[in-house]
Amino acid sequence: MSRTKLRHIVSLSGGKDSTALSIYLRDRIQDVEYVFSDTDKELPETYEYLDKLEAYLGQPIVRLKSEQGFDHWLKIYGGYLPSARMRWCTKMLKIRPFEQYIGEDEVNMYIGIRADENRGGYQPSKPNIHPIYPFVEAGYDLEDVHRILEESGISFPAYYSWLTRSGCYFCFYQQRHEWIGLKENHPDLFELAKSYEKPEAKDGLGYTWSERESLEALDDPARQAEIKQKLENRKQAVRSGDSKKLLHILGQDNDETDLLPCSFCHI
Ligand code: SF4
Repeated sequence: MSRTKLRHIVSLSGGKDSTALSIYLRDRIQDVEYVFSDTDKELPETYEYLDKLEAYLGQPIVRLKSEQGFDHWLKIYGGYLPSARMRWCTKMLKIRPFEQYIGEDEVNMYIGIRADENRGGYQPSKPNIHPIYPFVEAGYDLEDVHRILEESGISFPAYYSWLTRSGCYFCFYQQRHEWIGLKENHPDLFELAKSYEKPEAKDGLGYTWSERESLEALDDPARQAEIKQKLENRKQAVRSGDSKKLLHILGQDNDETDLLPCSFCHI
């Protein structure tokens, strides 16, 4: 049964932008709800960050989960790992639980896409969900997000030391240097991610997280040194101290830059 009152919901991903948005909206909108769709494959740092944010906001963050987890859906999808072209994980583990939670209620859904980003928003499959982009409306960019996070004392999630985006520990949107960061910070999770791959499968396609290199191949000190050197060279190119530019560059070494991560998981 639908409620008559319009609901206001901030969709959290455990990333910096949606976190900054929840802080920004806390005292601007009454009766706002904070919701996180938990894939059960998130990094421990994400859960810690959400706990910290929850304490700051002074109200619970609703944590949603698919009744069947990733491994169930992997079987349903024939063992094909999700990819930017076949992103069933977002649909089944993030969007579906969220839309079930909403039901038929009229909802203003607040999304943390910034004014300086060039990516499409969330396209709800239900007409009762109305996406709103407060940072775009306010003209807020990355610097504003930094300011909000620092002023609140929440700061950045700990995984930012090696990862530029929130999401599952095995997310296929990771850059090669970020996979190396996962190995260095969570060797157990790197091994788990590796255990999902089947690079020896006939066509190979769909059985490794990255189309071009398996984690087994990446798990080689010489290859890792090469990737780290490449990253260092790029950092040197922005030694001007422009951290905004650096963050932008670090997030742009994807082979598939035309396939930008969605706003549901990585914001
Ligand atoms: S974070 Fe990545 S792997 Fe996880 S649901 Fe989102 S797109 Fe899929």
